[in-house]
Amino acid sequence: MQTEFLIIGQGISGTWLSYYLEKTNKSFIVIDNEQPNSASRIAAGIINPVTGRRIVKTWMIDELLSFLVPAYEELGKEVGIKAIDKKSLIDFHPTPQMKIAFDERVKEKADFLFQPKDQWQYQETFNYDLGFGEVEPCYVVNLKEILPAWRKKLLSNNQLLEENFEIEELKHSNTGITYKNMKAEKIIFCDGINSSQNSFFINLPFALNKGEVLLIESADIPSTNIFKKGMMLTSIGSELYWIGSNYLWEFQDDQPTEQFRKQTELLLKTWLKVPFKIVDHKASVRPANIERRPFVGFHPTYKNVGLLNGLGTKGCSLAPYFAKQLTDHLIYKKEILPEADIKRFSKILTR
Ligand SMILES: Cc1cc2nc3c(=O)[nH]c(=O)nc-3n(C[C@H](O)[C@H](O)[C@H](O)COP(=O)(O)OP(=O)(O)OC[C@H]3O[C@@H](n4cnc5c(N)ncnc54)[C@H](O)[C@@H]3O)c2cc1C
Repeated sequence: MQTEFLIIGQGISGTWLSYYLEKTNKSFIVIDNEQPNSASRIAAGIINPVTGRRIVKTWMIDELLSFLVPAYEELGKEVGIKAIDKKSLIDFHPTPQMKIAFDERVKEKADFLFQPKDQWQYQETFNYDLGFGEVEPCYVVNLKEILPAWRKKLLSNNQLLEENFEIEELKHSNTGITYKNMKAEKIIFCDGINSSQNSFFINLPFALNKGEVLLIESADIPSTNIFKKGMMLTSIGSELYWIGSNYLWEFQDDQPTEQFRKQTELLLKTWLKVPFKIVDHKASVRPANIERRPFVGFHPTYKNVGLLNGLGTKGCSLAPYFAKQLTDHLIYKKEILPEADIKRFSKILTR
């Protein structure tokens, strides 16, 4: 079998890379083993444009938003789903200091931050005593439907192999790569945390980060907003809500823990005034890295071996933008943004 590009992984990175490659009419095959607890299958899909105690804009957010909103809408149209929802985030002030910080940022006319018209409008649903600020616009990406819908399309075009990729079977040379009975010009790893163990990229400064979530059912929580108090709470379907997450740099395994379940249940009991039922508990590991910048591009020595990874906590906002950059680099030799290009690690990658 002959193809131009072999893509490993169909999480949000592999989905967007295959989406843009398809637009160029280049041939490609995706190999994905559909791990049920891969990061893209556990994430809520929230895009929050601000971060931190100072509530500042996240990296490149203006540019990313103007790119990603139409991109998700287009992808959704193509596979017949609503791929992205615009919502405002109701940020319940956790401490008096955080309330002051929010109020000051609103006075400074910081982008995305607003005072609500009515501080107490959610009193029937939530316990809170310091009011809230609003962050707008935020988005929720419909990962639950995007990944299977795109997968179905790849399968019907014979562009997806549902199997485990075994790196021991990969042979590479200056002219291309061979994998089992397949020949390709290039291979691109979009395999999330697995790239951190892959001999080509093991020297990159991955800093994997575990997160857990609960799924709850409730008939009484508004589905129109994202709510935040320590954790994020958002609707992911009829009467189903996602609440998470924690961020663990040190962990034993990728399994859900009793400790997270108990802590989060306690938070929900004190925060929510309405009944809820826990229906699931999941955990996954984020392909994060020390610099908090993506890993995009080709290995400086093995020039046919590429990567779209390192998306950390921001897969939904970074994946479409950098998949497009990688595609433009592949097809038109355009430069990848230096802060994202793995060329910045040439020294350690050639060690
Ligand atoms: C608890 C939690 C909450 C999160 N919430 C958000 C959020 O709200 N918003 C946001 O933007 N981001 C969020 N993230 C981060 C986001 O999930 C990641 O940045 C993103 O999913 C990474 O996508 P990826 O495609 O690079 O990797 P992955 O999602 O890990 O995808 C890798 C794919 O490769 C496949 N694969 C791996 N190895 C092989 C192999 N050997 N053979 C075949 N297939 C293979 C896997 O099955 C998988 O399909 C969250 C993450 C976690 C853990």
